[in-house]
Amino acid sequence: MEQDLVVNEVFGPTVQGEGRSMGRRCAFLRLGGCNLSCSWCDTPYTWDWVGAADGGIAHDPRKELHRRPVGDVVEELLAFDTELIVISGGEPLGQQERLIPLVAALTERGKEIEIETNGTHAAHPELVAAGVRFNVSPKLSHSGDPLRRRIVPAALTSLSALPGSTFKFVCQNTRDLDEVAQLVTDFDLPSVWIMPIGRTADDVTKHMGELADAVVERGWNLTTRLHTLLWGEKRGV
Ligand code: SF4
Repeated sequence: MEQDLVVNEVFGPTVQGEGRSMGRRCAFLRLGGCNLSCSWCDTPYTWDWVGAADGGIAHDPRKELHRRPVGDVVEELLAFDTELIVISGGEPLGQQERLIPLVAALTERGKEIEIETNGTHAAHPELVAAGVRFNVSPKLSHSGDPLRRRIVPAALTSLSALPGSTFKFVCQNTRDLDEVAQLVTDFDLPSVWIMPIGRTADDVTKHMGELADAVVERGWNLTTRLHTLLWGEKRGV
């Protein structure tokens, strides 16, 4: 029997704000829950019920989490009429077995699917077989998460071997790039994208300017946070 998904929000049409598909029209499914607790998390309302991040604000799971049947979520996503559907969180692979029927229903209707993940879970083979592309965002030390929680070698190794994976790192300054380089070497990571930290347009632009030359010099890709530039911290866009 299919299990319900734990959903935070479903919204669209909008544009993918980050990474290789930045600017593409899409719909978003944001799932609840995360196994990490990054100090600068931009979606703490999906997991932070005690105020560990977000300036100590505790969010309310009764308001933020909704158990929803897969079929209802599929219908809502299809109604946005986008080619691309982005599944994000929180950490969506924490519910990946429950995502299998959703992905099957959406790919049957010709949808492209990207899953944003923190890279601590290996992808389920059925999601891989369905053609899902994984946008993997391993966390660096400035996240405040302990190394053993944020870097799971077996998961990173298996995600890096998938043909559609990209690796996106939130960076503050050029020192963070050395940490990225070590992970790229250790796990043979392909398709590296660097994204500036920031929850306001000013912060994103400032950090992007500080990082740009060094990112190009290292042979990597640079992405902004288009949604932050356009809409700041407004939710559901
Ligand atoms: S992994 Fe992502 S959702 Fe989870 S705490 Fe870190 S930034 Fe937030």
